[in-house]
Amino acid sequence: MICNKCGDIFFVKNFFKKILHSIFFQFTLKCPLTSACPKEKLLTLCRIIIISLTFPKVRNKAIRYSKKGEKSMKKKIFLTGATGTMGWAGLQELVKRSERFDITVLARPSRKNQQKLAPLMDRIRVVWGDLMRYEDVLKATEGADYVLHVGGMVSPSADYFPNKTRLVNRTAAENVVKAVLAQPNADDIRVCYIGSVAQTSDRNEPNHWGRTGDPICISVYDHYAISKTVAERIFAESGLKRWVSLRQSGILYPNIIKQFDPIMFHVPLRGVLEWTTIEDSGRVLANLCDTELPESFWNRFYNIGSGPAYRLSNYELECKLLKAIHCPKPEKIFDPKWFVLRNFHGYWYLDSQVLEDYLHFRGNVPVDDYFKQMGRQVPWYYHLAAIVPGCLIKQFIRPLAYKEKWGTQWWIKNDDKKRIAAYYGTKEAWEKIPDWRHQNLSHPSEKAIVLDHGYDESKPTEEWDIDDMRQAARFRGGRCVSEEMIKGDRHTPIEWECQFGHRFKASPTLVLLGGHWCPECLPSPWNYDEIAKGNPFFAQIWYPTHSKEEHNQYGEEIFDGWEK
Ligand SMILES: [Zn+2]
Repeated sequence: MICNKCGDIFFVKNFFKKILHSIFFQFTLKCPLTSACPKEKLLTLCRIIIISLTFPKVRNKAIRYSKKGEKSMKKKIFLTGATGTMGWAGLQELVKRSERFDITVLARPSRKNQQKLAPLMDRIRVVWGDLMRYEDVLKATEGADYVLHVGGMVSPSADYFPNKTRLVNRTAAENVVKAVLAQPNADDIRVCYIGSVAQTSDRNEPNHWGRTGDPICISVYDHYAISKTVAERIFAESGLKRWVSLRQSGILYPNIIKQFDPIMFHVPLRGVLEWTTIEDSGRVLANLCDTELPESFWNRFYNIGSGPAYRLSNYELECKLLKAIHCPKPEKIFDPKWFVLRNFHGYWYLDSQVLEDYLHFRGNVPVDDYFKQMGRQVPWYYHLAAIVPGCLIKQFIRPLAYKEKWGTQWWIKNDDKKRIAAYYGTKEAWEKIPDWRHQNLSHPSEKAIVLDHGYDESKPTEEWDIDDMRQAARFRGGRCVSEEMIKGDRHTPIEWECQFGHRFKASPTLVLLGGHWCPECLPSPWNYDEIAKGNPFFAQIWYPTHSKEEHNQYGEEIFDGWEK
Protein backbone atom coordinates (compact mmCIF):
# COMPACT_ATOMS: atom_id res chain seq x y z
CA MET A 1 0.00 0.00 0.00
CA ILE A 2 1.39 3.39 -0.92
CA CYS A 3 0.22 6.64 0.55
CA ASN A 4 -0.40 8.90 -2.39
CA LYS A 5 0.58 11.99 -0.44
CA CYS A 6 3.82 11.14 1.27
CA GLY A 7 4.82 8.16 -0.82
CA ASP A 8 5.38 5.94 2.23
CA ILE A 9 5.06 2.21 1.62
CA PHE A 10 3.42 -0.07 4.16
CA PHE A 11 3.96 -3.79 4.04
CA VAL A 12 1.37 -5.89 5.87
CA LYS A 13 1.95 -9.60 6.19
CA ASN A 14 -1.49 -11.10 6.69
CA PHE A 15 -5.02 -10.34 5.78
CA PHE A 16 -6.26 -9.49 9.28
CA LYS A 17 -3.51 -6.97 9.81
CA LYS A 18 -4.10 -5.61 6.37
CA ILE A 19 -7.78 -4.90 7.08
CA LEU A 20 -7.00 -3.40 10.46
CA HIS A 21 -4.30 -1.27 8.99
CA SER A 22 -6.52 -0.10 6.14
CA ILE A 23 -9.19 1.08 8.59
CA PHE A 24 -6.58 2.76 10.70
CA PHE A 25 -4.89 4.42 7.77
CA GLN A 26 -8.00 5.47 5.88
CA PHE A 27 -10.12 6.72 8.74
CA THR A 28 -7.66 8.10 11.18
CA LEU A 29 -4.36 9.24 9.79
CA LYS A 30 -5.07 10.09 6.19
CA CYS A 31 -1.49 10.94 5.98
CA PRO A 32 -1.26 13.75 8.52
CA LEU A 33 2.47 13.26 8.38
CA THR A 34 2.75 15.81 5.65
CA SER A 35 0.27 18.23 7.17
CA ALA A 36 1.54 21.44 8.66
CA CYS A 37 -1.76 22.14 10.45
CA PRO A 38 -1.32 21.95 14.25
CA LYS A 39 -5.05 21.27 14.68
CA GLU A 40 -4.87 18.24 12.43
CA LYS A 41 -1.78 16.99 14.19
CA LEU A 42 -3.54 17.30 17.57
CA LEU A 43 -6.62 15.49 16.28
CA THR A 44 -4.40 12.77 14.88
CA LEU A 45 -2.65 12.33 18.20
CA CYS A 46 -6.05 11.97 19.96
CA ARG A 47 -7.14 9.37 17.40
CA ILE A 48 -3.92 7.44 17.84
CA ILE A 49 -4.37 7.34 21.61
CA ILE A 50 -7.99 6.22 21.32
CA ILE A 51 -7.24 3.59 18.71
CA SER A 52 -4.17 2.39 20.56
CA LEU A 53 -6.23 1.85 23.70
CA THR A 54 -8.93 0.14 21.70
CA PHE A 55 -6.67 -2.00 19.57
CA PRO A 56 -3.51 -2.74 21.51
CA LYS A 57 -2.13 -4.79 18.61
CA VAL A 58 -1.87 -1.76 16.38
CA ARG A 59 -0.40 0.50 19.01
CA ASN A 60 3.11 0.08 17.78
CA LYS A 61 2.14 0.78 14.21
CA ALA A 62 0.18 3.83 15.29
CA ILE A 63 3.21 5.19 17.01
CA ARG A 64 5.31 4.45 13.96
CA TYR A 65 2.99 6.35 11.67
CA SER A 66 2.70 9.36 13.93
CA LYS A 67 4.97 12.24 13.09
CA LYS A 68 6.72 12.03 16.43
CA GLY A 69 7.10 8.28 16.21
CA GLU A 70 8.40 8.36 12.67
CA LYS A 71 11.02 10.91 13.53
CA SER A 72 12.36 8.71 16.27
CA MET A 73 12.45 5.65 14.02
CA LYS A 74 13.74 7.00 10.72
CA LYS A 75 16.78 9.10 10.12
CA LYS A 76 16.24 12.08 7.88
CA ILE A 77 18.90 12.42 5.23
CA PHE A 78 19.50 15.40 2.98
CA LEU A 79 21.68 14.56 -0.02
CA THR A 80 23.06 17.08 -2.51
CA GLY A 81 24.36 16.09 -5.93
CA ALA A 82 22.00 13.11 -6.08
CA THR A 83 21.89 13.08 -9.87
CA GLY A 84 25.69 13.11 -10.23
CA THR A 85 27.92 10.05 -10.33
CA MET A 86 28.70 9.61 -6.64
CA GLY A 87 25.44 11.13 -5.39
CA TRP A 88 23.41 8.77 -7.55
CA ALA A 89 25.30 5.76 -6.20
CA GLY A 90 24.67 7.05 -2.68
CA LEU A 91 21.00 7.56 -3.43
CA GLN A 92 20.63 3.97 -4.68
CA GLU A 93 22.11 2.70 -1.42
CA LEU A 94 19.97 4.99 0.71
CA VAL A 95 16.78 4.04 -1.11
CA LYS A 96 17.51 0.34 -0.47
CA ARG A 97 17.30 1.21 3.20
CA SER A 98 14.25 3.46 3.05
CA GLU A 99 12.68 1.59 5.94
CA ARG A 100 15.30 3.37 8.03
CA PHE A 101 15.76 6.61 6.10
CA ASP A 102 13.63 9.52 4.96
CA ILE A 103 15.54 10.90 2.02
CA THR A 104 15.47 14.44 0.69
CA VAL A 105 17.44 15.48 -2.36
CA LEU A 106 17.97 18.89 -3.87
CA ALA A 107 18.08 18.82 -7.65
CA ARG A 108 17.91 21.35 -10.43
CA PRO A 109 14.58 21.04 -12.26
CA SER A 110 16.15 20.12 -15.59
CA ARG A 111 14.38 17.66 -17.86
CA LYS A 112 17.27 15.23 -17.46
CA ASN A 113 17.09 15.34 -13.65
CA GLN A 114 13.32 14.99 -13.65
CA GLN A 115 13.51 11.90 -15.84
CA LYS A 116 16.29 10.43 -13.76
CA LEU A 117 14.50 10.90 -10.45
CA ALA A 118 11.00 10.00 -11.69
CA PRO A 119 11.22 6.27 -10.77
CA LEU A 120 12.15 7.18 -7.19
CA MET A 121 9.54 9.84 -6.55
CA ASP A 122 7.48 7.57 -4.30
CA ARG A 123 10.45 6.89 -2.06
CA ILE A 124 12.24 10.22 -1.81
CA ARG A 125 11.36 13.87 -1.31
CA VAL A 126 12.73 16.13 -4.00
CA VAL A 127 13.25 19.83 -3.47
CA TRP A 128 13.57 21.26 -6.95
CA GLY A 129 16.06 24.07 -6.74
CA ASP A 130 19.66 25.10 -6.89
CA LEU A 131 22.62 24.82 -4.53
CA MET A 132 23.38 28.42 -5.42
CA ARG A 133 20.09 29.60 -3.87
CA TYR A 134 20.18 29.67 -0.10
CA GLU A 135 16.38 29.40 0.26
CA ASP A 136 16.40 26.13 -1.69
CA VAL A 137 19.19 24.67 0.41
CA LEU A 138 17.48 25.81 3.60
CA LYS A 139 14.20 24.18 2.58
CA ALA A 140 15.91 20.87 1.88
CA THR A 141 17.94 21.02 5.12
CA GLU A 142 14.95 21.53 7.42
CA GLY A 143 14.45 18.55 9.69
CA ALA A 144 17.61 16.75 8.54
CA ASP A 145 19.62 14.51 10.85
CA TYR A 146 22.35 14.01 8.26
CA VAL A 147 23.50 16.30 5.46
CA LEU A 148 25.59 14.68 2.73
CA HIS A 149 27.10 17.41 0.57
CA VAL A 150 28.22 15.65 -2.58
CA GLY A 151 26.96 18.18 -5.12
CA GLY A 152 28.77 20.80 -7.12
CA MET A 153 30.54 21.12 -10.42
CA VAL A 154 32.86 18.21 -11.12
CA SER A 155 35.31 17.07 -13.75
CA PRO A 156 35.24 16.74 -16.72
CA SER A 157 32.53 19.42 -17.28
CA ALA A 158 34.11 21.62 -14.61
CA ASP A 159 37.50 21.45 -16.29
CA TYR A 160 36.60 24.12 -18.82
CA PHE A 161 34.93 26.64 -16.48
CA PRO A 162 37.36 27.96 -13.86
CA ASN A 163 35.35 30.92 -12.63
CA LYS A 164 32.01 29.19 -12.58
CA THR A 165 33.39 26.09 -10.87
CA ARG A 166 35.06 28.07 -8.10
CA LEU A 167 31.96 30.20 -7.56
CA VAL A 168 29.47 27.31 -7.55
CA ASN A 169 31.46 25.02 -5.28
CA ARG A 170 32.30 27.74 -2.76
CA THR A 171 28.78 29.18 -2.66
CA ALA A 172 27.21 25.73 -2.33
CA ALA A 173 29.43 24.99 0.67
CA GLU A 174 28.56 28.33 2.27
CA ASN A 175 24.85 27.74 1.72
CA VAL A 176 24.92 24.23 3.19
CA VAL A 177 26.83 25.36 6.28
CA LYS A 178 24.56 28.38 6.78
CA ALA A 179 21.41 26.27 6.40
CA VAL A 180 22.61 23.68 8.92
CA LEU A 181 23.56 26.36 11.43
CA ALA A 182 20.10 27.92 11.01
CA GLN A 183 18.39 24.75 12.25
CA PRO A 184 17.14 24.62 15.84
CA ASN A 185 18.88 21.24 16.21
CA ALA A 186 22.08 22.29 14.42
CA ASP A 187 24.30 20.58 16.99
CA ASP A 188 22.57 17.27 16.39
CA ILE A 189 23.04 17.32 12.62
CA ARG A 190 25.90 15.31 11.19
CA VAL A 191 27.42 16.84 8.10
CA CYS A 192 29.55 15.06 5.53
CA TYR A 193 31.44 17.00 2.88
CA ILE A 194 32.93 15.14 -0.06
CA GLY A 195 36.40 16.51 -0.72
CA SER A 196 38.84 15.36 -3.37
CA VAL A 197 42.19 13.70 -3.84
CA ALA A 198 42.86 16.59 -6.25
CA GLN A 199 43.54 18.78 -3.21
CA THR A 200 46.93 17.10 -2.83
CA SER A 201 48.29 17.28 -6.39
CA ASP A 202 50.76 14.92 -8.00
CA ARG A 203 52.79 12.58 -5.89
CA ASN A 204 54.88 10.67 -8.32
CA GLU A 205 57.39 8.09 -7.13
CA PRO A 206 59.09 8.14 -4.62
CA ASN A 207 56.37 10.20 -2.91
CA HIS A 208 53.44 8.21 -4.23
CA TRP A 209 52.17 7.17 -0.82
CA GLY A 210 50.31 9.64 1.34
CA ARG A 211 47.70 10.37 3.95
CA THR A 212 45.46 13.15 5.16
CA GLY A 213 47.50 15.85 6.84
CA ASP A 214 50.04 15.85 4.00
CA PRO A 215 50.39 19.32 2.46
CA ILE A 216 47.53 20.73 0.43
CA CYS A 217 49.01 21.24 -3.03
CA ILE A 218 46.88 22.02 -6.04
CA SER A 219 48.03 21.19 -9.54
CA VAL A 220 48.60 24.20 -11.76
CA TYR A 221 45.46 24.89 -13.84
CA ASP A 222 43.32 22.79 -11.46
CA HIS A 223 40.67 25.31 -10.51
CA TYR A 224 38.40 22.41 -9.49
CA ALA A 225 40.86 21.45 -6.74
CA ILE A 226 40.95 25.08 -5.58
CA SER A 227 37.17 25.03 -5.23
CA LYS A 228 37.25 21.73 -3.31
CA THR A 229 39.95 23.01 -0.96
CA VAL A 230 38.18 26.30 -0.27
CA ALA A 231 34.90 24.45 0.34
CA GLU A 232 36.58 21.97 2.69
CA ARG A 233 38.00 24.85 4.68
CA ILE A 234 34.51 26.37 4.95
CA PHE A 235 33.17 23.15 6.50
CA ALA A 236 36.14 22.61 8.79
CA GLU A 237 36.06 26.16 10.13
CA SER A 238 32.28 26.58 10.20
CA GLY A 239 31.72 25.86 13.88
CA LEU A 240 29.48 22.90 12.99
CA LYS A 241 29.38 20.49 15.89
CA ARG A 242 29.93 17.37 13.80
CA TRP A 243 31.40 17.55 10.32
CA VAL A 244 33.65 15.29 8.37
CA SER A 245 35.47 15.65 5.06
CA LEU A 246 35.82 12.49 3.00
CA ARG A 247 38.26 13.05 0.17
CA GLN A 248 37.08 11.11 -2.85
CA SER A 249 39.52 9.47 -5.20
CA GLY A 250 39.06 8.64 -8.87
CA ILE A 251 35.77 6.78 -9.24
CA LEU A 252 35.61 3.60 -11.31
CA TYR A 253 32.37 3.32 -13.21
CA PRO A 254 31.53 2.17 -16.75
CA ASN A 255 31.33 5.66 -18.22
CA ILE A 256 35.03 6.30 -17.73
CA ILE A 257 35.62 3.89 -20.63
CA LYS A 258 33.57 6.24 -22.78
CA GLN A 259 35.45 9.39 -21.84
CA PHE A 260 37.49 10.44 -24.82
CA ASP A 261 38.85 13.85 -23.98
CA PRO A 262 42.25 15.55 -24.36
CA ILE A 263 42.42 15.49 -20.57
CA MET A 264 43.07 11.75 -20.75
CA PHE A 265 46.70 12.65 -21.61
CA HIS A 266 47.09 15.16 -18.75
CA VAL A 267 48.40 12.33 -16.56
CA PRO A 268 51.88 10.83 -16.16
CA LEU A 269 52.10 7.18 -17.19
CA ARG A 270 53.51 6.16 -13.83
CA GLY A 271 51.36 8.55 -11.79
CA VAL A 272 49.15 6.64 -9.39
CA LEU A 273 45.70 6.58 -7.83
CA GLU A 274 43.99 4.33 -5.33
CA TRP A 275 40.67 4.07 -7.12
CA THR A 276 37.25 3.80 -5.54
CA THR A 277 34.50 1.79 -7.17
CA ILE A 278 31.19 3.49 -7.69
CA GLU A 279 29.46 0.91 -5.48
CA ASP A 280 31.92 1.52 -2.63
CA SER A 281 31.34 5.27 -3.04
CA GLY A 282 27.60 4.80 -2.63
CA ARG A 283 28.06 2.62 0.43
CA VAL A 284 30.34 5.20 2.04
CA LEU A 285 27.45 7.66 2.07
CA ALA A 286 24.74 5.26 3.20
CA ASN A 287 26.88 3.52 5.82
CA LEU A 288 27.86 6.86 7.30
CA CYS A 289 24.17 7.46 8.05
CA ASP A 290 23.52 3.87 9.05
CA THR A 291 26.33 3.42 11.56
CA GLU A 292 26.53 4.56 15.15
CA LEU A 293 29.83 6.34 14.91
CA PRO A 294 31.89 7.35 17.95
CA GLU A 295 32.56 11.03 18.63
CA SER A 296 36.19 10.46 17.65
CA PHE A 297 35.07 9.92 14.05
CA TRP A 298 33.85 13.48 13.59
CA ASN A 299 35.69 16.70 12.77
CA ARG A 300 38.39 15.00 10.76
CA PHE A 301 39.54 14.28 7.22
CA TYR A 302 39.59 10.86 5.57
CA ASN A 303 40.66 9.38 2.26
CA ILE A 304 38.20 7.17 0.41
CA GLY A 305 39.83 4.28 -1.45
CA SER A 306 38.81 0.76 -2.42
CA GLY A 307 41.96 -0.76 -0.98
CA PRO A 308 45.28 -2.32 -1.97
CA ALA A 309 44.02 -4.11 -5.11
CA TYR A 310 42.86 -0.78 -6.53
CA ARG A 311 46.23 0.93 -6.22
CA LEU A 312 47.26 1.30 -9.84
CA SER A 313 49.59 3.36 -11.95
CA ASN A 314 47.95 5.26 -14.80
CA TYR A 315 49.59 2.87 -17.25
CA GLU A 316 48.14 -0.10 -15.39
CA LEU A 317 44.75 1.56 -15.38
CA GLU A 318 44.87 2.09 -19.15
CA CYS A 319 45.83 -1.56 -19.65
CA LYS A 320 42.88 -2.77 -17.59
CA LEU A 321 40.39 -0.37 -19.18
CA LEU A 322 41.45 -1.30 -22.70
CA LYS A 323 41.45 -5.00 -21.89
CA ALA A 324 37.88 -4.67 -20.58
CA ILE A 325 36.72 -3.81 -24.11
CA HIS A 326 39.27 -6.08 -25.83
CA CYS A 327 41.09 -3.05 -27.22
CA PRO A 328 44.83 -3.35 -28.07
CA LYS A 329 47.35 -2.38 -25.39
CA PRO A 330 48.36 1.27 -24.74
CA GLU A 331 51.61 0.70 -26.65
CA LYS A 332 49.60 0.07 -29.83
CA ILE A 333 47.22 3.01 -29.66
CA PHE A 334 49.02 5.83 -27.79
CA ASP A 335 52.32 7.64 -28.16
CA PRO A 336 54.13 7.97 -24.79
CA LYS A 337 54.91 11.61 -25.62
CA TRP A 338 51.19 12.38 -25.52
CA PHE A 339 51.27 11.86 -21.75
CA VAL A 340 52.58 14.54 -19.39
CA LEU A 341 55.38 14.03 -16.86
CA ARG A 342 53.83 15.70 -13.81
CA ASN A 343 51.14 18.06 -12.44
CA PHE A 344 48.28 15.60 -12.10
CA HIS A 345 46.97 14.51 -8.72
CA GLY A 346 46.95 11.08 -7.16
CA TYR A 347 48.68 8.93 -4.59
CA TRP A 348 48.22 5.62 -2.84
CA TYR A 349 46.69 5.88 0.58
CA LEU A 350 48.47 4.95 3.75
CA ASP A 351 45.24 5.66 5.60
CA SER A 352 42.23 4.61 3.51
CA GLN A 353 41.82 1.61 5.83
CA VAL A 354 40.89 4.04 8.62
CA LEU A 355 37.64 4.97 6.90
CA GLU A 356 37.00 1.33 5.95
CA ASP A 357 37.33 0.32 9.61
CA TYR A 358 34.62 2.82 10.52
CA LEU A 359 32.23 2.35 7.61
CA HIS A 360 32.91 -1.10 6.10
CA PHE A 361 32.03 0.14 2.66
CA ARG A 362 34.36 -1.95 0.47
CA GLY A 363 32.87 -4.62 -1.74
CA ASN A 364 36.36 -6.12 -2.19
CA VAL A 365 35.59 -7.27 -5.72
CA PRO A 366 38.80 -8.65 -7.27
CA VAL A 367 40.09 -5.80 -9.40
CA ASP A 368 40.24 -7.72 -12.70
CA ASP A 369 36.69 -8.99 -12.19
CA TYR A 370 35.61 -5.42 -11.58
CA PHE A 371 37.08 -4.20 -14.87
CA LYS A 372 35.47 -7.10 -16.71
CA GLN A 373 32.16 -6.14 -15.14
CA MET A 374 32.64 -2.53 -16.30
CA GLY A 375 33.44 -3.74 -19.81
CA ARG A 376 30.13 -5.62 -19.92
CA GLN A 377 28.24 -2.44 -19.09
CA VAL A 378 29.35 -0.29 -22.04
CA PRO A 379 27.49 -0.39 -25.38
CA TRP A 380 28.37 -3.34 -27.64
CA TYR A 381 30.07 -1.25 -30.30
CA TYR A 382 32.93 -0.37 -27.90
CA HIS A 383 33.92 -4.02 -28.16
CA LEU A 384 34.46 -3.62 -31.89
CA ALA A 385 37.86 -2.27 -30.84
CA ALA A 386 38.87 -5.95 -30.67
CA ILE A 387 38.80 -6.29 -34.46
CA VAL A 388 40.14 -2.85 -35.42
CA PRO A 389 43.93 -2.65 -35.98
CA GLY A 390 45.74 -0.67 -33.27
CA CYS A 391 47.25 1.73 -35.82
CA LEU A 392 43.77 2.77 -36.94
CA ILE A 393 42.60 3.35 -33.38
CA LYS A 394 45.74 5.43 -32.85
CA GLN A 395 44.81 7.63 -35.80
CA PHE A 396 41.33 8.02 -34.34
CA ILE A 397 42.67 9.08 -30.91
CA ARG A 398 45.52 11.24 -32.17
CA PRO A 399 43.41 14.41 -32.68
CA LEU A 400 42.74 14.48 -28.94
CA ALA A 401 46.44 14.93 -28.24
CA TYR A 402 46.58 17.75 -30.80
CA LYS A 403 43.30 19.45 -29.93
CA GLU A 404 43.58 23.22 -29.87
CA LYS A 405 44.35 24.63 -26.42
CA TRP A 406 43.72 21.34 -24.54
CA GLY A 407 45.85 18.79 -26.35
CA THR A 408 49.29 18.15 -24.84
CA GLN A 409 50.91 18.12 -28.28
CA TRP A 410 49.20 21.39 -29.23
CA TRP A 411 51.09 22.98 -26.33
CA ILE A 412 54.36 21.62 -27.66
CA LYS A 413 53.59 22.58 -31.24
CA ASN A 414 52.59 26.10 -30.26
CA ASP A 415 55.27 26.48 -27.61
CA ASP A 416 52.79 27.17 -24.82
CA LYS A 417 55.46 27.96 -22.23
CA LYS A 418 53.22 27.90 -19.16
CA ARG A 419 51.65 24.56 -20.01
CA ILE A 420 55.02 23.06 -20.90
CA ALA A 421 56.59 24.32 -17.66
CA ALA A 422 53.72 23.03 -15.54
CA TYR A 423 53.35 19.60 -17.13
CA TYR A 424 56.82 18.78 -18.50
CA GLY A 425 59.25 21.16 -16.79
CA THR A 426 60.98 22.01 -20.06
CA LYS A 427 60.58 21.26 -23.73
CA GLU A 428 63.83 19.32 -23.56
CA ALA A 429 62.27 17.06 -20.93
CA TRP A 430 59.42 16.35 -23.37
CA GLU A 431 61.90 15.64 -26.18
CA LYS A 432 63.69 13.13 -23.97
CA ILE A 433 60.57 11.05 -23.31
CA PRO A 434 61.61 7.59 -24.52
CA ASP A 435 59.60 5.37 -26.82
CA TRP A 436 57.51 2.52 -25.43
CA ARG A 437 60.37 0.02 -25.51
CA HIS A 438 62.50 2.21 -23.25
CA GLN A 439 59.77 3.36 -20.90
CA ASN A 440 59.86 2.27 -17.27
CA LEU A 441 56.32 0.94 -16.88
CA SER A 442 56.89 -1.10 -13.74
CA HIS A 443 54.50 -1.05 -10.81
CA PRO A 444 55.64 1.79 -8.51
CA SER A 445 57.26 0.77 -5.26
CA GLU A 446 55.16 -0.78 -2.51
CA LYS A 447 57.51 0.83 -0.01
CA ALA A 448 56.12 4.04 1.41
CA ILE A 449 57.95 7.20 2.36
CA VAL A 450 55.88 8.68 5.15
CA LEU A 451 55.93 12.47 5.15
CA ASP A 452 56.82 14.43 8.25
CA HIS A 453 53.93 16.56 9.47
CA GLY A 454 56.18 18.61 11.71
CA TYR A 455 54.77 17.81 15.14
CA ASP A 456 54.64 14.89 17.54
CA GLU A 457 51.95 12.73 15.96
CA SER A 458 52.12 10.17 18.75
CA LYS A 459 50.62 12.74 21.10
CA PRO A 460 46.80 12.47 21.45
CA THR A 461 44.95 15.51 20.09
CA GLU A 462 43.48 16.01 23.58
CA GLU A 463 46.97 16.94 24.73
CA TRP A 464 47.86 19.36 21.94
CA ASP A 465 49.15 22.64 23.30
CA ILE A 466 50.66 25.85 21.99
CA ASP A 467 54.15 24.33 21.76
CA ASP A 468 52.86 21.75 19.29
CA MET A 469 51.38 24.57 17.21
CA ARG A 470 54.67 26.49 17.29
CA GLN A 471 56.55 23.44 16.17
CA ALA A 472 54.12 22.77 13.30
CA ALA A 473 54.23 26.43 12.20
CA ARG A 474 58.04 26.46 12.14
CA PHE A 475 58.08 23.38 9.92
CA ARG A 476 55.77 25.25 7.54
CA GLY A 477 58.19 28.18 7.35
CA GLY A 478 56.01 30.44 9.45
CA ARG A 479 55.06 30.93 13.05
CA CYS A 480 52.18 30.61 15.47
CA VAL A 481 51.19 34.16 16.37
CA SER A 482 48.75 33.21 19.12
CA GLU A 483 50.51 32.92 22.44
CA GLU A 484 48.15 30.50 24.02
CA MET A 485 45.49 27.92 23.33
CA ILE A 486 43.32 25.80 25.55
CA LYS A 487 45.03 22.44 25.84
CA GLY A 488 43.36 19.95 23.52
CA ASP A 489 41.05 22.53 21.92
CA ARG A 490 41.64 21.70 18.28
CA HIS A 491 38.53 23.46 16.99
CA THR A 492 38.96 27.09 18.01
CA PRO A 493 40.91 29.00 15.34
CA ILE A 494 44.22 30.50 16.41
CA GLU A 495 46.42 33.00 14.56
CA TRP A 496 49.30 32.00 12.32
CA GLU A 497 51.76 33.70 9.99
CA CYS A 498 53.16 32.19 6.79
CA GLN A 499 56.71 32.65 5.45
CA PHE A 500 55.60 35.75 3.51
CA GLY A 501 54.12 37.47 6.56
CA HIS A 502 50.45 36.80 5.72
CA ARG A 503 48.49 36.47 8.95
CA PHE A 504 45.45 34.23 9.09
CA LYS A 505 43.28 32.30 11.49
CA ALA A 506 42.85 28.58 11.29
CA SER A 507 41.99 25.80 13.71
CA PRO A 508 44.67 23.30 14.75
CA THR A 509 42.47 20.64 13.12
CA LEU A 510 42.61 22.36 9.74
CA VAL A 511 46.38 22.88 9.82
CA LEU A 512 47.67 19.75 11.53
CA LEU A 513 45.09 17.16 10.46
CA GLY A 514 43.99 18.68 7.14
CA GLY A 515 47.32 19.90 5.76
CA HIS A 516 45.88 23.35 5.03
CA TRP A 517 47.92 26.50 5.54
CA CYS A 518 47.86 30.15 4.43
CA PRO A 519 44.69 31.03 2.46
CA GLU A 520 46.47 33.95 0.81
CA CYS A 521 49.13 31.63 -0.61
CA LEU A 522 46.48 29.29 -1.97
CA PRO A 523 46.38 29.50 -5.77
CA SER A 524 45.93 31.48 -7.71
CA PRO A 525 48.62 32.56 -8.27
CA TRP A 526 50.55 29.31 -8.06
CA ASN A 527 53.80 30.34 -6.40
CA TYR A 528 54.97 26.91 -5.35
CA ASP A 529 58.63 27.21 -6.42
CA GLU A 530 58.97 30.14 -4.03
CA ILE A 531 56.93 28.53 -1.25
CA ALA A 532 59.03 25.34 -1.36
CA LYS A 533 62.19 27.37 -0.69
CA GLY A 534 60.98 28.47 2.74
CA ASN A 535 58.51 25.78 3.74
CA PRO A 536 60.13 22.40 4.54
CA PHE A 537 56.71 20.78 5.03
CA PHE A 538 55.73 21.67 1.45
CA ALA A 539 59.19 21.07 0.01
CA GLN A 540 58.84 17.35 0.83
CA ILE A 541 56.31 16.90 -1.96
CA TRP A 542 57.54 19.57 -4.34
CA TYR A 543 61.17 18.72 -4.97
CA PRO A 544 60.79 15.11 -6.03
CA THR A 545 59.10 16.42 -9.20
CA HIS A 546 60.52 19.96 -9.47
CA SER A 547 64.01 21.39 -9.68
CA LYS A 548 65.29 24.01 -7.24
CA GLU A 549 66.30 25.98 -10.33
CA GLU A 550 62.67 26.50 -11.39
CA HIS A 551 61.06 29.86 -10.71
CA ASN A 552 57.60 29.57 -12.17
CA GLN A 553 54.58 31.55 -11.17
CA TYR A 554 51.16 31.05 -12.68
CA GLY A 555 48.47 33.69 -12.20
CA GLU A 556 44.90 34.11 -13.35
CA GLU A 557 46.19 34.89 -16.85
CA ILE A 558 46.51 31.14 -17.47
CA PHE A 559 42.70 31.01 -17.64
CA ASP A 560 42.39 33.81 -20.20
CA GLY A 561 39.88 32.88 -22.87
CA TRP A 562 38.66 29.74 -21.04
CA GLU A 563 35.07 30.86 -20.58
CA LYS A 564 33.07 33.66 -21.99
ZN1 LIG B 1 50.81 33.24 2.77
